[in-house]
Amino acid sequence: MLTSEERSALEEEDLYWFEELFYRDLESWFSSDIACCDNCYDEFLESWPHAYAADDAAFQRSGIDLSCFYSGSRLQEVYTEEEFFRFLRLIECPRCGEEIKYNIWPYNFPFDVVEGFEEYLIEISNLSQKTPFLILKHSFAKEIYSTLESLSESSEPIALSNSLYRARASASMKSYEISEFDFPPDQVVSEGRYNHAGIPVLYLGSTPETCFYEMREVACYIAEVKINKVIKVLDLVDSYDAHEEHHDLLNTLVYSALMSAKQDDTGWYRPKYVFSRFISDCAKSVGFDAIRYPSTRVGSESYNLVILSQSFSLKHSSTLGKIFEYDLGTPNKSEHSGVDAAGV
Ligand SMILES: [Zn+2]
Repeated sequence: MLTSEERSALEEEDLYWFEELFYRDLESWFSSDIACCDNCYDEFLESWPHAYAADDAAFQRSGIDLSCFYSGSRLQEVYTEEEFFRFLRLIECPRCGEEIKYNIWPYNFPFDVVEGFEEYLIEISNLSQKTPFLILKHSFAKEIYSTLESLSESSEPIALSNSLYRARASASMKSYEISEFDFPPDQVVSEGRYNHAGIPVLYLGSTPETCFYEMREVACYIAEVKINKVIKVLDLVDSYDAHEEHHDLLNTLVYSALMSAKQDDTGWYRPKYVFSRFISDCAKSVGFDAIRYPSTRVGSESYNLVILSQSFSLKHSSTLGKIFEYDLGTPNKSEHSGVDAAGV
C-alpha cells in the first residue's frame, strides 16, 4: 500500500486526475464497481460462492486484464501505458484495500449487501465449527430469526403450478412406486443442507437435470410429481417478488457461503451445512412448510424445493407424472408411466 508521502508525490506528478478518469472509464465500460482484485479473488469467491454460480454474465470469471482495459479505454488518450501503470498505484481495491496490479473483477451484486456482512460471515462460520447449537446467540442470527417470523406472518400458503422432480440412485431402487421417492425412513437419513441427521425432509428439483447434478451425477431414476396441496414456502429464489421488504437480507444469505457453499457429502464433518440447517429450523419453527432455494450445482434458472413437513408426503399430497431413468447422454432411456408403475 502507498504511504501518504508516496501518494502525494504521485498525485502531484499526475497532470490530469487519474482516479476520476479511471472510474469514469470503468463505469462506462462495465457499469459496475470493482468486486475484487488478484489479491482477494479467492477469498471473494469463498465468501460469495453464488455470485460465481448464478451470475454467469454479470460476474466475469476470468477478470479484466488491466493492459486490455488501458488499450480499450479513453485513458490512453492522456496517459502512456507506462504512466497508466504508475498512476494505477493510486487505485485501491475497494474490498481488500491493496493496490490493484494485473486484473480486476468488475461486478455489482443484484441487491444491497447487508452492512458488515463479511464480518458476520467469519463470526458465524467460527460458531458453526465450534458450538453450532449456540448460533442463535449471534445478533445477526437473531435478526434472521425475527425476520423469518415476520415473513411467515405475512405469507400465505400457495399452489405450486409447476411439476417438480425427485431422484433416487438407480442402484438403490426397489420398485417403481411413488413410495420409493417419498420421505425416507429416519434411520437412513444423514445430515443434509436443510436437515439434521435422522430428521427426513424431501428434496425436490425444478428439472430432471437439477436432480441429477444434486445427486452428484450418479445414474438415477427420477419421478415427476405435482404437489396438489397449498403449501407455505419461504422463497429464497424470487425473494424480490415474494418477500420484497427483506430482499437484501435474504439475497445476502443466499449469495454467501453461509447458505451456498458446496459441501462434500462424505464423512460426518459438514460445517458448511450448519447455517442452512439453522435457517431450516427457523423456517419450520415460524410455520413454513418448505424452502425454495437456488441450486449450487446447476445454472441460474433451476432451483430446489425442500419440503420440511411430513404432512406433505408425496403419497398424500401429490400426483405422480412419470418415472424415468436419467443418466448423462441417456435421459428417458426407460420410462414408467405413473399409472402403471405406481398404481395410483
Ligand atoms: Zn482486493
